[in-house]
Amino acid sequence: MTSKPVATAPADAPVASKLEALLNLQRIDSQLDEIRRVRGDLPEEVRDLEDEIAGYEVRVSKFDEEISALNDQIKQRKQNAKDAEGLIKRYEDQQQNVRNNREYEAIAKEIELQKLEIQISEKKIKEAQYQIELKNSDIAGTKQRLDERKKDLTNKKTELDVIVGESEADEKKLMEERAGATQPVEDRLLTAYTRIRGNVRNGLAVVTVKRDACGGCFNTVPPQRQADIISHKKIIVCEHCGRVLADVEARIVA
Ligand SMILES: [Zn+2]
Repeated sequence: MTSKPVATAPADAPVASKLEALLNLQRIDSQLDEIRRVRGDLPEEVRDLEDEIAGYEVRVSKFDEEISALNDQIKQRKQNAKDAEGLIKRYEDQQQNVRNNREYEAIAKEIELQKLEIQISEKKIKEAQYQIELKNSDIAGTKQRLDERKKDLTNKKTELDVIVGESEADEKKLMEERAGATQPVEDRLLTAYTRIRGNVRNGLAVVTVKRDACGGCFNTVPPQRQADIISHKKIIVCEHCGRVLADVEARIVA
């Protein structure tokens, strides 16, 4: 497509100049689409990786907190067991000086209770240690994945920077050109143009008829419709896809 300078086309402007303005806008947008197509999924992949990494970091720090809480529990349980041992020692001393069997039995019961307390503490300590082991192994795995993802991210970011760097100037120039190109397009048409572009897969809202077919959906455009398009009396859309049919490309006669 050529990039002829576009004349301003208010609502009462001739249809031909409206179509010319639309074609010009489409040409710019198609070039912008191409730039973004080359970048492809990279920007999204970079965002996804950043999200994934943040998730892993949260996971590791959550596990670190849980391990620290478990270590506190172990410390507390160890203290409990130590206290119980101290009590047992004291009770055993008391048992040496009992005056009767009843007192002896009562102290023996206390000793049993403290022994039970020690057993419970030891069991809880083992459980907590096992939990810590599990969490540590999860942390190790997560950190490994984290390192891998960080490498992926660095690579993807470098790749993206190169691609963006190559096209950044072009994109900026096209965006400026685009701002100027929308000026001569009346609001109603611009809205329709934007809507059609959003609905079609290839981003083409304005096309020409090539070899008797719509340049957007490739369905046949009947001869009478083609004649209407060429006459530029009104804006005609493809009856199959709704794209604006701006012109009919001359067939090359062999
Ligand atoms: Zn069509």
